[in-house]
Amino acid sequence: MSDIHDTATELFTELTGRTPDGLWSAPGRVNLIGEHTDYNDGFVLPFAIPHRTVAAVGVRDDGIGRVRVASTFAAEPVEVALDELGTLFPTLRQAQGTSSQGKPAVPEWAAYPLGVAWALAEAAGAAGAGIDIAIASDVPVGAGLSSSAAIEGATASALNDLWNAGLDKTALARIGRKAENEAVGAPTGIMDQMASMLGEPDAAIFLDCRSLEAQLVPLGVAEAGLAILVMDTRVKHAHSTGGYGERRAACERGAAIMGVPSLRDVSVGDLSRAETLMDDVTFRRVRHVVTENQRVLDTVRVLREQGARAIGDLLVASHASMRDDFEISVPELDTAVEAALSAGALGARMTGGGFGGAAIALIEADAVATVSDAVNAAFAASGFAAPHLFTVTPSAGAQRDA
Ligand code: ADP
Ligand code: MG
Repeated sequence: MSDIHDTATELFTELTGRTPDGLWSAPGRVNLIGEHTDYNDGFVLPFAIPHRTVAAVGVRDDGIGRVRVASTFAAEPVEVALDELGTLFPTLRQAQGTSSQGKPAVPEWAAYPLGVAWALAEAAGAAGAGIDIAIASDVPVGAGLSSSAAIEGATASALNDLWNAGLDKTALARIGRKAENEAVGAPTGIMDQMASMLGEPDAAIFLDCRSLEAQLVPLGVAEAGLAILVMDTRVKHAHSTGGYGERRAACERGAAIMGVPSLRDVSVGDLSRAETLMDDVTFRRVRHVVTENQRVLDTVRVLREQGARAIGDLLVASHASMRDDFEISVPELDTAVEAALSAGALGARMTGGGFGGAAIALIEADAVATVSDAVNAAFAASGFAAPHLFTVTPSAGAQRDA
């Protein structure tokens, strides 16, 4: 058990005066390649990272049907009746036609675990017993490493067990996504939740976001003498506002113009026709998604045929596409990528939804210090706040730990 497990257990005891019935955890993730392709029914290739969110959870012994949730992130726990969960969140109220505006009735962070409880109760047919949840995490928040999927995955795994819902990992990933989309109001795809649920040591998850068919692809990063460096710019992003939703809308527009259900159905060979049919901005959004889908397929093939050492150029091309066509990079991410490449990285790209967050670099295992120094120096020279640099190894997905 880690420090995070101890912290979650202590918080649970502070909240309830008892010890938890169990500890469940789920990891953050890095997306190796395939950005903004998930909600276009396309392909992604993420892996789970060692950083985890732990939920210490217990069934309430007072027989009262309430759910109480505490996090080390928040000063106050939040408590609601299980049968009121469906009325708490603005998007849900909107769907029910009772209100079209306003903030959620709970703090935003609590909408993640409470949204999971609501979505899981719906999927299972009914909520189970009242429950207490205490959450601790070492996943960097808002860094594009999916602390959101980690909190969803830990909560969903715990409730699935304690409510005997019997749902499989893919169903739990869908529940996390539903919570994020409908309770939090962030229009994200299914990638993060699938990566956090299905991760395995030393493997990436090749996910078809249309069928939700997932295959583990061995990465062999350490075997090849390589390491993956995460470069968290510390520029915070927020998916429930702004650019993310606009990009989704552009993709939907592009698919409609092409007369297909989603951009998954557009191939690289269709792009010259697409260019004649749509405005420049929509076309560049479409070109990113279409070429990125192809890059995921190419990366999987190259990994299988040649190994991790050979995927660098695909990572670099992916970053250029996000920077120039999809326009979701920021100067800090470009600086991190360029500095890492100049210092000898085999490949580098921003990862996650963009507008801040983190980039990754595929580097020689013995070059961690050299590349880190170069990135730090480039940030200092540009007047940016110091980045947070650390290596990650592909790790296990959501599980019960105790
Ligand atoms: P990312 O998933 O890239 O870290 P998001 O904006 O998708 O960024 O999700 C971050 C949000 O998730 C936080 O602002 C917070 O509301 C919630 N969250 C994540 N981890 C925790 C945690 N351990 N405790 C409480 N809330 C959390
Ligand atoms: Mg997230």
